[in-house]
Amino acid sequence: MVKALYMDDSYLREWDAVVESVSQKKFIILDKTAFFPKGGGVEYDIGTITTEDKQVFNVVYTGKFSGKISHEVEKAGLQEGDKVHCLLDWERRYLLMRYHTATHVLSGVLFKDYNLKVTGNQLTTDKARVDLNMAEMDVNIIIKSIEKSNEIIEKKLPVDIFYKSREEAEKEPDLFKLAIGFPHDIDNLRIVDIKGFDKQADGGCHVKNLKEIGTIIFKDFINKGKNFKRVYFTIE
Ligand SMILES: [Zn+2]
Repeated sequence: MVKALYMDDSYLREWDAVVESVSQKKFIILDKTAFFPKGGGVEYDIGTITTEDKQVFNVVYTGKFSGKISHEVEKAGLQEGDKVHCLLDWERRYLLMRYHTATHVLSGVLFKDYNLKVTGNQLTTDKARVDLNMAEMDVNIIIKSIEKSNEIIEKKLPVDIFYKSREEAEKEPDLFKLAIGFPHDIDNLRIVDIKGFDKQADGGCHVKNLKEIGTIIFKDFINKGKNFKRVYFTIE
């Protein structure tokens, strides 16, 4: 199991690594990585892998395959055993961290105040899409929930990460109420704790304090069918 460095430090943006394997010349497995693989509705990281002799390989996609994080580079040349330096496209990653944490806040409000659950989400650097199990179309609930989310963000609550055994975590079903993120390990679950507001089992990247999110802006609300309503928002 490759150690995902972003699990313990979402702010790590460069590090040294060794190429563990190369398949089809362009799919790279590293001994350790902070590149986030597409998952839990969140887009993948991009960036660069640079060799000791200063050859630069652009990482154009990161995905998880057979439990390993695979980096797709745009040209051949990396070899097993190469010592490399990795660098994230930090602007992109940080924006995704802000969007992802904003989704935690909004989904927490929707659940606590209206008992609505998030059934899916898709976060890009342009906008966030959140799907809800809402029966009747009620845009006021969405507008009010976004207003309340912004009030919570203004409280500048810290966001902590800790680990809990599955046995312990299963005593708190609310930890699994959202379909966002993914626990990374069967026996030891990673919990994201927005202090004093909401906790979730989650494997993604978050900002350290809600103040980093900025402001959530409502964009659109679409009826996709019974118990299926879709919200779009941006952050500024
Ligand atoms: Zn999360």
